[in-house]
Amino acid sequence: MRLLITGGAGFIGSHLVDHYMRHGDEVMVVDNLITGREENIASHRGSKGFTFIKEDICELSDVDAEIDLILHLASPASPIDYLKYPIETMRTASLGTHNLLEIAKNKRAKFLLASTSEIYGDPEQHPQAEEYWGNVNPIGPRAVYDEGKRFAEALTAAYNREYGVNTFIVRIFNTYGQRMRADDGRVIPTFVNQALKNESFTIYGDGKQTRSFCYISDMVDGIARAAQTDYTKPVNIGNPKEYTILEVADMVKTHCASNSEMEFLPLPENDPKKRKPNISRAKEILDWEPRVDLGTGLEHVIDWFRGEK
Ligand code: NAD
Ligand code: UDP
Repeated sequence: MRLLITGGAGFIGSHLVDHYMRHGDEVMVVDNLITGREENIASHRGSKGFTFIKEDICELSDVDAEIDLILHLASPASPIDYLKYPIETMRTASLGTHNLLEIAKNKRAKFLLASTSEIYGDPEQHPQAEEYWGNVNPIGPRAVYDEGKRFAEALTAAYNREYGVNTFIVRIFNTYGQRMRADDGRVIPTFVNQALKNESFTIYGDGKQTRSFCYISDMVDGIARAAQTDYTKPVNIGNPKEYTILEVADMVKTHCASNSEMEFLPLPENDPKKRKPNISRAKEILDWEPRVDLGTGLEHVIDWFRGEK
């Protein structure tokens, strides 16, 4: 198979690159490195079948290759990243996604959009199933990301209806693993690095808000299965086991044998109170469910960050 992976130098994208390179596929990565790192894909440099193009997908009108599958992951994804790059985030979701859908249409490639649980906003339904339309503030600071992704979903669905492009929408719930940047602001890399330095955990709000965390190998497996189906409706991929942020801090503290204290800071605006995927559809359509529990995944991530220090 010949793949184009946008955002392939980022956290999830680079693990997908590893997966497809291991299977002997041809992989072209397009990434402008706004939040990604070239070192994430450095092991493939010079490998047969691997190409890296450093480019903004908003400027990408075509690629000089046949493509069977596009995995469209390019987008700042961490709250501190998309709040730092609000306009770039919206341009990427809109113009960038449009460019990739045109390429998919012209090359008759399958197109997979990496969407997000953020499209459910601060959800009034719990857990969140794909039928739920969400509760999003369209002008709040997080809107650059969640409304951007909602637009990207709408455009993807329109290309399927209008042009028959074979599309798939994955709604990714909080995912963690090796290669997240220590300073990307997301809760697991932040807490792990605080614990390893015995610094206080920065708990936003009262820490009773919940999230559900999927380990990277489970996410790669889910996305790879999604890429093989002809299903066109959105599918949630995430781990349904739900934790409060205080519970996450406690687990990280225990696994790192750390002395970190809790420091309570203001909750960011529009921070969702709870989040947990209903994964019935993924089980049925993809025969997929997560296998790695948070304790095991944390051990891997902690080991990795220890090596990075
Ligand atoms: P990441 O920031 O590590 O990776 C994103 C990559 O996209 C980076 O390498 C970045 O440089 C690249 N990029 C951004 N804008 C670009 C542009 N205009 N042109 C070219 N490249 C561009 O983030 P991630 O966690 O790996 O997320 C990957 C995808 O998965 C994103 O689309 C994100 O919305 C989605 N997602 C991730 C999570 C999660 O928990 N990690 C949750 C939901 C959705
Ligand atoms: N969070 C926190 N301290 C941090 C980073 C995050 O308490 O240092 C909280 C954040 O307010 C949110 C949850 O952890 O409620 C998950 O945040 P993250 O940025 O990882 O992902 P998202 O908000 O996109 O789910």
